Amino acid sequence: MRRRIMAGNWKMYKTPRETVEFFERFKPLVVANKNHCEVVVFPPSICIPAAVAAANGSEIGVGGQNIYWGKEGAYTGEISGEMLRAAGASWVLVGHSERRHTVCHETDIDVLKKTQAALAAGLKPIVCIGERLEEHKAGKTNEVLVRQFAGGIAGLTEEQFAQVVIAYEPVWAIGTGLAATPEIASSAHKLIRSEVEKRFGTETSQTLRILYGGSVKPDNVEGLMRESEIDGALVGGASLDPESLFKIVCS
Ligand code: PEP
Repeated sequence: MRRRIMAGNWKMYKTPRETVEFFERFKPLVVANKNHCEVVVFPPSICIPAAVAAANGSEIGVGGQNIYWGKEGAYTGEISGEMLRAAGASWVLVGHSERRHTVCHETDIDVLKKTQAALAAGLKPIVCIGERLEEHKAGKTNEVLVRQFAGGIAGLTEEQFAQVVIAYEPVWAIGTGLAATPEIASSAHKLIRSEVEKRFGTETSQTLRILYGGSVKPDNVEGLMRESEIDGALVGGASLDPESLFKIVCS
């Protein structure tokens, strides 16, 4: 039985003060719900210490949105795994499409190196993969997912891979309000799981948690979560509001 994860990616929203205000409303809701799934919030890195302090007394995890593989050095603007851990983070997002395509042109090899760095620092990585609109329209979804997996995190050892969570995030669904249907998401998850099975074996593929991300909202999350292949969600816009994220956590 795979434990569901509901994760909120705040992107470049909220200050430390706004982070504290969010947790003042969100934490009591989560704490009062005894059977909640695994909950993780990914604030901007400058807000991590505030989020960790504000989440104290709950089981809400906090993570970074990015990591660099160097331990330290002349890498202006980057953040290492040790730094994230020192700030109190226990999770990290790797390979989000906004870093692959929009902001930093990260490659599959970069994603592999970042995942290795996260694991070496004791962070739990959520590794994002997903196809762009033109690839979706051209029927190339499976090809893209196989390429991103094979060229990236398939290079982990079995032991390393066992600690990874994958998020399937079709780029055309992120921030557009056009979520993938449960059927589309489920079929992508099945494909990912079968690739994982070929590389790492049945047991690892069956314990792997695969989240869906892309315009998940309180009003579409239940349909998605009815699919046995979908083990939770990575939520952007709808995670900025505490009541909205809590409804998703409760789905
Ligand atoms: C995301 O940022 O990973 C995401 C899925 O965003 P949204 O939910 O806003 O589409």
